[in-house]
Amino acid sequence: MTEIRYPFLDLATVNAPYLSEIKAALERVADSGRYVGGDEVTRFENNLKNLTGASCAIGVSNGLDALRMILRGYMELGRLHPGDGVIVPSNTYIASVLAITDCGLSPVFVDPSIDSLNLTADGVARALAENNAKALMTVHLYGRVAWDADLKQLAVDNGLIVIEDNAQAIGAVAPVEGMKGGSRVTGALGHAAAFSFYPTKNIGALGDAGAVTTSDSELAAAVRALANYGSDTRYHNIYRGWNCRLDPVQAAVLNVKLPHLSIENGYRRGIAATYDGEIANPLVIKPAFVDSDIMVWHQYVVMTSRRDELQRYLRANGVATDIHYPTPIHRQPCYEAYSGLPLPIADKISREALSLPVSRCTSIDDARAIAHIVNEFHRP
Ligand SMILES: *Cc1c(COP(=O)(O)O)cnc(C)c1O
Repeated sequence: MTEIRYPFLDLATVNAPYLSEIKAALERVADSGRYVGGDEVTRFENNLKNLTGASCAIGVSNGLDALRMILRGYMELGRLHPGDGVIVPSNTYIASVLAITDCGLSPVFVDPSIDSLNLTADGVARALAENNAKALMTVHLYGRVAWDADLKQLAVDNGLIVIEDNAQAIGAVAPVEGMKGGSRVTGALGHAAAFSFYPTKNIGALGDAGAVTTSDSELAAAVRALANYGSDTRYHNIYRGWNCRLDPVQAAVLNVKLPHLSIENGYRRGIAATYDGEIANPLVIKPAFVDSDIMVWHQYVVMTSRRDELQRYLRANGVATDIHYPTPIHRQPCYEAYSGLPLPIADKISREALSLPVSRCTSIDDARAIAHIVNEFHRP
């Protein structure tokens, strides 16, 4: 096997610029004697409010739990009911759908646009004509904002609850304001948003971590209670909740990294711009490029009908790649009930998508070299 010259992602490299600050923060938590909740968590929540413009932020255990608690919160408040339909893109990461089914709600799968790989108003409108969906889970997949004037209008006209799965697009900025006006930053576009700080995300913790943002103080109170055994005040339980709190150790790490979000996202944007400028191969379709905050490039995903061949060729030339995601949700064993749904775009993406390296482990020179290797794919 050729040596990997261009790794896909190495988390130690990603965290290296912050390591001394992170270690100091960990020591602070160790010395504090406060190991659940406390100042670090509160500071993190304030940081996230400032970043998004949402009036409430709740640190939680991970992104899946954030989504579960938002949906369960709406159910506890009587705004969603068992069996209600929740529109969700067919090509998202499976966690989006796990949250929906875990709450006893019904996923309404909608194929994305083949250009943006995100939901469009047209697709959602078609689904609404056939299903009485009550909520829309918009997923900013690969770091591209899935929100525009048409989607917003459709959500308003149909009285949809809009939930953002913002695991992949922290810091991205939409072309129009959210349902509540004001901020155009992801996390403030719908009625509630879930964040993940899984180590590979644009801002990652040293383990699992997540958050919920919302400007709905009733929902915020429900989520906060659900994350804490369903307890609103000590030893008083209004819900049959969970223990899904954010660990102060992870909050401390995130407080170090969050202030550098625009540098991190800008770094990714520079690599994406290099790929976009340098990759020229008729066999390889590049992602629609926008040089703006609409896209924070969690992944740089090319499409080709010869995906497996391209992946092997790149590997043989020292370039590691990944696939997001190789099996569509409706083809997973646990969702066999949905295997008959016609979702041709989700199927196509799972066969043709290939993610090129786009992190701090890749320099601009590396990106240029990778682009040139891609350009030599199947040229004599
Ligand atoms: C990572 C991710 C999640 C789940 O977040 P975890 O923190 O790993 O639970 C949910 N949705 C999407 C789109 C993701 O990429």
